[in-house]
Amino acid sequence: MKAIVFNHHGGPDVLKCTDAPDPVIHPNEVLVRVKACALNHLDLWVRRGIPGVPIPLPHIPGSDISGEIAQIGAEVSTVRVGQQVVLTPLVSCGKCAACVAGLDNHCRQATNLGYMIDGGCAEFVRAPEVNCLPYPENLSFEEAASIPLVFQTAWHMLLARAELRPGEDVLVLGAGSGVGSAAIQIAKFFGARVIATAGTDEKLQKAKQLGADYLINHKTQKIRDEVRRLTNKRGVDVVFEHVGTATWDDSLASLAAGGRLVTCGATTGYDAKVDLRFLFTRQLSLLGSYMGTKSELQTVMKLVVAGKLKPIVDRVFPLAEAAAAHAYLESSSQFGKVVLRV
Ligand SMILES: [Zn+2]
Repeated sequence: MKAIVFNHHGGPDVLKCTDAPDPVIHPNEVLVRVKACALNHLDLWVRRGIPGVPIPLPHIPGSDISGEIAQIGAEVSTVRVGQQVVLTPLVSCGKCAACVAGLDNHCRQATNLGYMIDGGCAEFVRAPEVNCLPYPENLSFEEAASIPLVFQTAWHMLLARAELRPGEDVLVLGAGSGVGSAAIQIAKFFGARVIATAGTDEKLQKAKQLGADYLINHKTQKIRDEVRRLTNKRGVDVVFEHVGTATWDDSLASLAAGGRLVTCGATTGYDAKVDLRFLFTRQLSLLGSYMGTKSELQTVMKLVVAGKLKPIVDRVFPLAEAAAAHAYLESSSQFGKVVLRV
């Protein structure tokens, strides 16, 4: 099969479009003919190399996959050949205490398609049967592939971790990112008031179209000052973080007393400081969040089919131009998802 493969870590130029062996499925797995694979920041980290994470080489990246079932293993009973599917990115053991409790994002053996195992930047990918989600018929393959990772992550952050309640104020950082554009929609769906930040006015207008109530251009405005002004000096109940070092101080300073900061990433770096006096006197909560459960993604899919949440596709590249797609994502000029069409 044709695949995007890298043999060593580095810049976008390490990604080669080449021939790779067809994946061989296990009895509980399916082989998916990939139609679209959406990119995430995770793909950039995996390509560059992460200290302490020995990603098997050569490696095929890509976590967010839509396509058609090409082959099923002997034990597979819930999907058939030819069926369209979206894949849940998280591959967990299915047997540990966390997995049987439905908390597969707490599984110690869990990884993502395209992380410690081969992913979907290829003509075919193998995945466990339980990772097959019903296909949302109203969506293109590119749109369908744009849902799983960011929507599941944003959902888990806002609902499971930050326990968002109607009427609360939420600061969504990086509205132009996939996870940011998902968070705005989810927060609005649950009746929150949303303040969104982005680095260009064009992105801010798109955030407004998604429902953001207030906009902050972080290139020309100071986030904490604007939040104070917009909330009458109170601050927000929830800060939706994934940017890291560049925004951390502003994020903490933007919290109302009793506020919750939830984070799923550190795009600009992972060094951060916390003034403990501020943490305890204002009774703040700092919450980490990782991916989401399969069950949460099933709920997201229902809301996508119902038209309540929608994936935002910024730009589609052909598979062979994966390196250009990575460079584009790295430039942060997108609003929504960057997708490879296979
Ligand atoms: Zn497990």
